[in-house]
Amino acid sequence: MLDIENAVAVITGAGSGIGEAIARYWIGRGGKAVLADIVPDHLDRVRGELEAAGAEVAALVCDTTREEDNARLAALAIERFGKINLVVPAAGIIRDGLMISTDRETGMVNGRMSLRQFQSVIDVNLTGVFLTIRECAEQMVNSGSRGLICLISSTGALGTAGQINYSSSKAAMSVIPKVLTAELFRRNLADRIRCVAVAPGYVATPMVRGMDERALGKIVADVPLGRLIEPDEIASLICELYRNEALAGDVYYIHGGLRMGSRG
Ligand code: NAP
Repeated sequence: MLDIENAVAVITGAGSGIGEAIARYWIGRGGKAVLADIVPDHLDRVRGELEAAGAEVAALVCDTTREEDNARLAALAIERFGKINLVVPAAGIIRDGLMISTDRETGMVNGRMSLRQFQSVIDVNLTGVFLTIRECAEQMVNSGSRGLICLISSTGALGTAGQINYSSSKAAMSVIPKVLTAELFRRNLADRIRCVAVAPGYVATPMVRGMDERALGKIVADVPLGRLIEPDEIASLICELYRNEALAGDVYYIHGGLRMGSRG
Protein backbone atom coordinates (compact mmCIF):
# COMPACT_ATOMS: atom_id res chain seq x y z
CA MET A 1 0.00 0.00 0.00
CA LEU A 2 1.25 3.50 -0.83
CA ASP A 3 1.52 6.19 1.86
CA ILE A 4 -0.09 9.60 1.43
CA GLU A 5 2.28 11.15 3.99
CA ASN A 6 4.73 13.41 2.05
CA ALA A 7 3.37 12.24 -1.31
CA VAL A 8 2.72 14.96 -3.93
CA ALA A 9 -0.58 15.52 -5.76
CA VAL A 10 -1.21 17.72 -8.81
CA ILE A 11 -4.87 18.74 -8.86
CA THR A 12 -6.65 20.88 -11.47
CA GLY A 13 -10.02 22.47 -10.79
CA ALA A 14 -8.74 22.71 -7.21
CA GLY A 15 -10.54 25.99 -6.51
CA SER A 16 -13.96 24.36 -6.28
CA GLY A 17 -15.98 21.18 -5.80
CA ILE A 18 -14.31 17.79 -6.21
CA GLY A 19 -10.83 19.24 -6.90
CA GLU A 20 -10.98 21.30 -3.71
CA ALA A 21 -12.26 18.32 -1.70
CA ILE A 22 -9.46 16.04 -2.88
CA ALA A 23 -6.88 18.75 -2.10
CA ARG A 24 -8.19 19.12 1.47
CA TYR A 25 -8.52 15.36 2.00
CA TRP A 26 -5.02 14.62 0.67
CA ILE A 27 -3.37 17.36 2.71
CA GLY A 28 -5.36 16.32 5.78
CA ARG A 29 -3.57 12.98 5.55
CA GLY A 30 -0.06 14.43 5.30
CA GLY A 31 0.23 14.92 1.54
CA LYS A 32 1.63 17.92 -0.36
CA ALA A 33 -0.11 19.45 -3.34
CA VAL A 34 0.20 21.62 -6.41
CA LEU A 35 -3.16 23.24 -7.07
CA ALA A 36 -4.44 24.72 -10.33
CA ASP A 37 -7.62 26.51 -11.32
CA ILE A 38 -8.72 29.07 -13.90
CA VAL A 39 -10.38 31.27 -11.23
CA PRO A 40 -7.63 33.13 -9.29
CA ASP A 41 -9.87 34.08 -6.32
CA HIS A 42 -11.00 30.50 -5.73
CA LEU A 43 -7.45 29.22 -5.96
CA ASP A 44 -6.17 31.90 -3.55
CA ARG A 45 -8.89 31.06 -1.03
CA VAL A 46 -8.10 27.31 -1.04
CA ARG A 47 -4.33 27.83 -1.01
CA GLY A 48 -4.59 30.43 1.78
CA GLU A 49 -6.75 28.23 3.99
CA LEU A 50 -4.52 25.20 3.51
CA GLU A 51 -1.31 27.16 4.15
CA ALA A 52 -2.82 28.72 7.27
CA ALA A 53 -3.36 25.16 8.52
CA GLY A 54 0.36 24.41 7.94
CA ALA A 55 0.11 22.57 4.60
CA GLU A 56 2.85 22.50 1.96
CA VAL A 57 1.12 23.68 -1.21
CA ALA A 58 1.93 25.48 -4.44
CA ALA A 59 -0.67 27.05 -6.68
CA LEU A 60 -0.81 28.11 -10.32
CA VAL A 61 -3.58 29.94 -12.16
CA CYS A 62 -3.94 27.71 -15.16
CA ASP A 63 -6.20 27.27 -18.18
CA THR A 64 -5.94 23.54 -18.76
CA THR A 65 -6.87 23.92 -22.43
CA ARG A 66 -3.50 25.64 -22.95
CA GLU A 67 -0.54 23.36 -23.58
CA GLU A 68 1.99 25.74 -21.99
CA ASP A 69 -0.06 26.12 -18.77
CA ASN A 70 -0.04 22.35 -18.25
CA ALA A 71 3.70 22.18 -18.92
CA ARG A 72 4.27 24.92 -16.31
CA LEU A 73 2.06 23.10 -13.81
CA ALA A 74 3.89 19.77 -14.08
CA ALA A 75 7.28 21.54 -14.00
CA LEU A 76 6.25 23.47 -10.88
CA ALA A 77 5.52 20.21 -9.03
CA ILE A 78 9.02 18.92 -9.83
CA GLU A 79 10.75 22.23 -8.99
CA ARG A 80 8.94 22.55 -5.68
CA PHE A 81 8.68 18.92 -4.50
CA GLY A 82 10.84 16.77 -6.86
CA LYS A 83 8.12 14.22 -7.67
CA ILE A 84 4.45 13.66 -8.60
CA ASN A 85 2.55 10.79 -6.98
CA LEU A 86 -1.10 11.60 -7.73
CA VAL A 87 -2.61 13.47 -10.68
CA VAL A 88 -6.29 14.46 -10.53
CA PRO A 89 -7.39 16.50 -13.57
CA ALA A 90 -10.68 17.70 -12.04
CA ALA A 91 -11.10 20.89 -14.10
CA GLY A 92 -14.33 20.43 -16.00
CA ILE A 93 -17.40 22.25 -17.31
CA ILE A 94 -20.96 21.54 -18.45
CA ARG A 95 -22.81 23.40 -21.24
CA ASP A 96 -26.03 21.39 -21.54
CA GLY A 97 -28.53 21.47 -24.38
CA LEU A 98 -30.26 19.21 -26.89
CA MET A 99 -28.41 18.57 -30.16
CA ILE A 100 -31.65 19.34 -31.98
CA SER A 101 -34.70 21.06 -30.41
CA THR A 102 -38.12 21.10 -32.02
CA ASP A 103 -41.08 23.41 -31.75
CA ARG A 104 -43.90 21.76 -29.76
CA GLU A 105 -46.57 23.02 -32.17
CA THR A 106 -44.99 22.64 -35.60
CA GLY A 107 -42.63 19.75 -34.83
CA MET A 108 -39.97 21.57 -36.85
CA VAL A 109 -36.41 22.13 -35.70
CA ASN A 110 -36.14 25.46 -33.91
CA GLY A 111 -32.74 25.15 -32.25
CA ARG A 112 -29.51 23.17 -32.22
CA MET A 113 -26.34 22.91 -30.20
CA SER A 114 -23.73 25.24 -31.65
CA LEU A 115 -20.23 24.08 -32.50
CA ARG A 116 -18.96 26.43 -29.80
CA GLN A 117 -21.20 24.85 -27.13
CA PHE A 118 -20.03 21.35 -28.14
CA GLN A 119 -16.37 22.20 -28.59
CA SER A 120 -15.96 24.21 -25.37
CA VAL A 121 -16.79 21.12 -23.29
CA ILE A 122 -14.52 18.85 -25.36
CA ASP A 123 -11.71 21.41 -25.05
CA VAL A 124 -11.79 21.45 -21.23
CA ASN A 125 -13.04 17.96 -20.36
CA LEU A 126 -11.06 15.96 -22.94
CA THR A 127 -8.24 17.96 -24.57
CA GLY A 128 -7.43 19.76 -21.30
CA VAL A 129 -7.29 16.47 -19.38
CA PHE A 130 -5.08 14.92 -22.09
CA LEU A 131 -2.64 17.84 -21.79
CA THR A 132 -2.56 17.73 -17.97
CA ILE A 133 -1.93 14.00 -17.77
CA ARG A 134 0.59 13.97 -20.64
CA GLU A 135 2.72 16.66 -18.99
CA CYS A 136 2.44 15.11 -15.53
CA ALA A 137 3.09 11.56 -16.78
CA GLU A 138 6.27 12.74 -18.51
CA GLN A 139 7.50 14.29 -15.27
CA MET A 140 6.48 11.19 -13.29
CA VAL A 141 8.50 8.93 -15.60
CA ASN A 142 11.56 11.19 -15.71
CA SER A 143 11.60 11.83 -11.95
CA GLY A 144 11.17 8.13 -11.09
CA SER A 145 7.89 8.85 -9.29
CA ARG A 146 5.44 6.13 -8.24
CA GLY A 147 1.70 6.69 -8.14
CA LEU A 148 -1.64 7.19 -9.82
CA ILE A 149 -3.32 9.23 -12.53
CA CYS A 150 -6.99 9.43 -11.52
CA LEU A 151 -9.41 10.77 -14.15
CA ILE A 152 -12.91 12.00 -13.36
CA SER A 153 -15.48 10.31 -15.59
CA SER A 154 -19.20 10.39 -14.72
CA THR A 155 -22.31 8.25 -14.81
CA GLY A 156 -23.11 10.64 -17.70
CA ALA A 157 -20.58 8.58 -19.73
CA LEU A 158 -23.40 6.07 -20.17
CA GLY A 159 -25.44 8.67 -22.08
CA THR A 160 -27.54 11.51 -20.71
CA ALA A 161 -30.04 13.44 -22.82
CA GLY A 162 -29.05 17.09 -23.11
CA GLN A 163 -25.36 16.31 -22.65
CA ILE A 164 -24.00 15.09 -26.01
CA ASN A 165 -20.89 17.20 -25.37
CA TYR A 166 -20.41 16.28 -21.69
CA SER A 167 -21.36 12.58 -22.02
CA SER A 168 -18.94 12.19 -24.96
CA SER A 169 -16.10 13.77 -22.99
CA LYS A 170 -16.81 11.56 -19.96
CA ALA A 171 -17.03 8.39 -22.09
CA ALA A 172 -13.48 9.23 -23.19
CA MET A 173 -12.42 9.40 -19.52
CA SER A 174 -13.62 5.84 -19.01
CA VAL A 175 -11.52 4.42 -21.86
CA ILE A 176 -8.27 6.32 -21.24
CA PRO A 177 -7.31 4.20 -18.17
CA LYS A 178 -7.31 1.11 -20.39
CA VAL A 179 -5.27 2.80 -23.13
CA LEU A 180 -2.69 4.22 -20.72
CA THR A 181 -2.38 1.08 -18.65
CA ALA A 182 -1.63 -0.89 -21.83
CA GLU A 183 0.88 1.73 -23.02
CA LEU A 184 2.65 1.88 -19.64
CA PHE A 185 2.71 -1.94 -19.50
CA ARG A 186 4.43 -2.00 -22.93
CA ARG A 187 7.13 0.29 -21.60
CA ASN A 188 7.57 -1.61 -18.30
CA LEU A 189 6.16 1.32 -16.34
CA ALA A 190 2.79 -0.09 -15.28
CA ASP A 191 4.18 -1.42 -11.99
CA ARG A 192 4.83 2.12 -10.79
CA ILE A 193 2.42 4.39 -12.70
CA ARG A 194 -1.26 3.40 -12.72
CA CYS A 195 -4.25 5.08 -14.34
CA VAL A 196 -7.89 4.75 -13.23
CA ALA A 197 -11.09 6.79 -13.44
CA VAL A 198 -13.78 7.46 -10.89
CA ALA A 199 -17.30 7.86 -12.26
CA PRO A 200 -19.42 9.87 -9.84
CA GLY A 201 -23.17 10.26 -9.97
CA TYR A 202 -24.54 13.60 -8.82
CA VAL A 203 -22.17 15.32 -6.38
CA ALA A 204 -23.02 18.31 -4.18
CA THR A 205 -20.66 20.81 -5.84
CA PRO A 206 -21.33 24.24 -7.40
CA MET A 207 -21.63 22.51 -10.81
CA VAL A 208 -24.74 20.63 -9.61
CA ARG A 209 -26.08 23.11 -7.05
CA GLY A 210 -26.33 25.60 -9.95
CA MET A 211 -29.11 23.48 -11.52
CA ASP A 212 -32.72 24.58 -11.05
CA GLU A 213 -34.45 23.10 -8.01
CA ARG A 214 -37.05 21.13 -9.96
CA ALA A 215 -34.40 19.38 -12.10
CA LEU A 216 -32.32 18.66 -9.00
CA GLY A 217 -35.37 17.23 -7.19
CA LYS A 218 -36.00 14.85 -10.11
CA ILE A 219 -32.37 13.73 -10.04
CA VAL A 220 -32.30 13.02 -6.32
CA ALA A 221 -35.57 11.08 -6.63
CA ASP A 222 -33.64 8.56 -8.81
CA VAL A 223 -30.87 8.02 -6.24
CA PRO A 224 -31.58 5.10 -3.86
CA LEU A 225 -29.28 6.72 -1.27
CA GLY A 226 -31.76 9.63 -1.25
CA ARG A 227 -29.24 12.47 -1.51
CA LEU A 228 -26.38 13.90 -3.54
CA ILE A 229 -22.91 12.37 -3.06
CA GLU A 230 -20.62 14.53 -0.89
CA PRO A 231 -17.33 15.74 -2.48
CA ASP A 232 -15.49 14.18 0.49
CA GLU A 233 -16.89 10.77 -0.45
CA ILE A 234 -15.25 11.14 -3.88
CA ALA A 235 -11.99 12.29 -2.25
CA SER A 236 -12.01 9.27 0.07
CA LEU A 237 -12.40 6.89 -2.92
CA ILE A 238 -9.57 8.59 -4.83
CA CYS A 239 -7.24 8.32 -1.83
CA GLU A 240 -8.05 4.62 -1.48
CA LEU A 241 -7.41 4.12 -5.22
CA TYR A 242 -4.04 5.80 -4.67
CA ARG A 243 -3.09 3.70 -1.66
CA ASN A 244 -4.13 0.30 -3.04
CA GLU A 245 -1.93 -0.60 -6.00
CA ALA A 246 -4.09 -3.58 -6.95
CA LEU A 247 -6.65 -1.06 -8.23
CA ALA A 248 -5.55 -0.26 -11.79
CA GLY A 249 -6.77 0.32 -15.34
CA ASP A 250 -10.48 0.51 -14.59
CA VAL A 251 -13.45 2.79 -13.85
CA TYR A 252 -14.85 2.93 -10.31
CA TYR A 253 -18.46 4.09 -9.97
CA ILE A 254 -19.65 6.11 -6.98
CA HIS A 255 -23.30 7.15 -7.21
CA GLY A 256 -25.36 5.99 -4.24
CA GLY A 257 -27.11 3.34 -6.36
CA LEU A 258 -28.23 5.73 -9.13
CA ARG A 259 -30.39 4.28 -11.88
CA MET A 260 -28.00 4.30 -14.86
CA GLY A 261 -28.62 5.70 -18.33
CA SER A 262 -31.15 8.23 -19.51
CA ARG A 263 -34.93 8.22 -19.58
CA GLY A 264 -34.74 10.56 -22.62
P1 NAP B 1 -16.79 22.72 -10.16
O1 NAP B 1 -17.22 22.87 -8.74
O2 NAP B 1 -17.36 23.62 -11.20
O3 NAP B 1 -15.18 22.79 -10.18
C1 NAP B 1 -14.46 22.75 -11.38
C2 NAP B 1 -13.40 23.83 -11.33
O4 NAP B 1 -12.62 23.74 -12.54
C3 NAP B 1 -14.00 25.24 -11.29
O5 NAP B 1 -13.27 26.07 -10.40
C4 NAP B 1 -13.82 25.68 -12.74
O6 NAP B 1 -13.83 27.08 -12.93
C5 NAP B 1 -12.48 25.08 -13.04
N1 NAP B 1 -12.20 25.09 -14.49
C6 NAP B 1 -13.08 25.14 -15.51
N2 NAP B 1 -12.44 25.21 -16.68
C7 NAP B 1 -11.10 25.25 -16.38
C8 NAP B 1 -9.93 25.34 -17.18
N3 NAP B 1 -9.99 25.41 -18.51
N4 NAP B 1 -8.74 25.34 -16.55
C9 NAP B 1 -8.66 25.26 -15.20
N5 NAP B 1 -9.74 25.19 -14.40
C10 NAP B 1 -10.95 25.17 -14.98
O7 NAP B 1 -17.09 21.23 -10.70
P2 NAP B 1 -17.09 19.82 -9.93
O8 NAP B 1 -18.49 19.43 -9.75
O9 NAP B 1 -16.15 19.82 -8.79
O10 NAP B 1 -16.50 18.92 -11.09
C11 NAP B 1 -15.15 18.49 -11.10
C12 NAP B 1 -15.03 17.35 -12.11
O11 NAP B 1 -15.87 16.28 -11.69
C13 NAP B 1 -15.49 17.73 -13.53
O12 NAP B 1 -14.69 17.07 -14.47
C14 NAP B 1 -16.88 17.18 -13.57
O13 NAP B 1 -17.29 16.91 -14.89
C15 NAP B 1 -16.73 15.91 -12.75
N6 NAP B 1 -17.97 15.38 -12.24
C16 NAP B 1 -18.77 16.14 -11.45
C17 NAP B 1 -19.96 15.60 -10.99
C18 NAP B 1 -20.89 16.37 -10.13
O14 NAP B 1 -22.02 15.89 -9.89
N7 NAP B 1 -20.52 17.53 -9.61
C19 NAP B 1 -20.32 14.30 -11.34
C20 NAP B 1 -19.48 13.55 -12.14
C21 NAP B 1 -18.29 14.10 -12.58
P3 NAP B 1 -15.23 27.77 -13.38
O15 NAP B 1 -16.06 27.84 -12.12
O16 NAP B 1 -14.82 29.10 -13.90
O17 NAP B 1 -15.85 26.91 -14.44
